[in-house]
Amino acid sequence: MSTTDSSTEHIKCLIIGSGPAAYTAAIYAARADLKPVIIQGMQPGGQLTITTEVENYPGYPDGVQGPQMMRDFEAQAKRFNTDVRWGYVSSVDFSSAPYKVVVDEEKIILADTVIICTGASAKWLGLESEQRLNGFGVSACATCDGYFFRQQVVAVVGGGDTAAEEASYLSKLCKKVYLIVRRGEMRASKAMQHRVSHTENIEILYNTEPKEVLGEKTVEGLRILDRISNEERTLELTGFFVAIGHQPNTDIFKGQLDLDENGYILTKPGSTLTKIPGVFAAGDVQDHIYRQAVTAAGSGCMAAIDAERYLAAAGLH
Ligand code: NDP
Repeated sequence: MSTTDSSTEHIKCLIIGSGPAAYTAAIYAARADLKPVIIQGMQPGGQLTITTEVENYPGYPDGVQGPQMMRDFEAQAKRFNTDVRWGYVSSVDFSSAPYKVVVDEEKIILADTVIICTGASAKWLGLESEQRLNGFGVSACATCDGYFFRQQVVAVVGGGDTAAEEASYLSKLCKKVYLIVRRGEMRASKAMQHRVSHTENIEILYNTEPKEVLGEKTVEGLRILDRISNEERTLELTGFFVAIGHQPNTDIFKGQLDLDENGYILTKPGSTLTKIPGVFAAGDVQDHIYRQAVTAAGSGCMAAIDAERYLAAAGLH
């Protein structure tokens, strides 16, 4: 199909993704009459669909299950006639406006504005037991789930700043935190290393590798390997936090937008503007620091307002 094909759609606002940033952008864009279309992507609902209870999102005084929360977000976006579609964006061309977005490798949409909310994915160790107990004691977010492990024993795996921050956060809630580092040293900044090594209830296990998360329905322990002595032992614990990095979902934007050294989209500080006028980024795809549903939703709102102002200034709305 060519871009001049009469069946090619031309819309004002295309939103890529379906997490809190995307749906919030849709709610604002729809209410500003931008008639947004959402392309949901491979994991409709995003990272919250692989978590269980969310207790820190304002407006849910009794907490809510992550998947249910995303259904609520979607319903609210649809209430204002957001066109929510299955499918994934296979490529984009931001070289000239309107921007060309290819869906499912065949359908072309021309969009005056594009709001990118493709998020980031936590990296996992790849253990079968880690996936099986994900959401039942295995987590990739201490800020989200740490509260469920108050006064319990937990472990964090990773040696970077995220792992150090997660361990430090958990040490204030939990009885004891093991920090499992695969090498003989950490990659984290000296300041963070200093903090974790001087926290009484954090025990750092260097040269150590998790082999299996134990437990039938919930986490009951962790089998670890000492890589120097080659000996295995079991830690008794109820929570296992994986903090070995995140991967922003930005492959299709490489070469078209400015990305930082870890692949996150660079936006103009205090806004959602990318280097391409009319292309905006919101949520975890441009935020490696806060990574919360509520901050993603906030930046989704900003992106819709930025898009509306851009369209008005360009005489397109
Ligand atoms: P990093 O890539 O910096 O660190 C990942 C860590 O996980 C490394 O220690 C790595 O080990 C370890 N790791 C990777 N794969 C495995 C595995 N299969 N098994 C065991 N361990 C594994 O990721 P972060 O998320 O920590 O940080 C990402 C970026 O964000 C960094 O630039 C960081 O500085 C920044 N950041 C900054 C913060 C701040 O300033 N407050 C807070 C959080 C992050 P190895 O070292 O052996 O490769």
